[in-house]
Amino acid sequence: MIVVDRNKCPHDHRCPLMDICPEEAISQGDDGYPIIDYTLCIECGICIKRCPLRAIKQLN
Ligand code: SF4
Repeated sequence: MIVVDRNKCPHDHRCPLMDICPEEAISQGDDGYPIIDYTLCIECGICIKRCPLRAIKQLN
């Protein structure tokens, strides 16, 4: 499962991963944190590699 590490995400900017996710599984909530739609996410791992703050991680 792909999750947002809230200790690392500053949630103060438009999340660039919304444009990177090939499945359009990432949106952004009113609080600025990214939201992952698990009905769309295929766990490709692209967002993990591309988040500049390393705020996305995979839990097994
Ligand atoms: S793992 Fe892939 S499909 Fe899932 S949210 Fe990240 S970029 Fe999108």
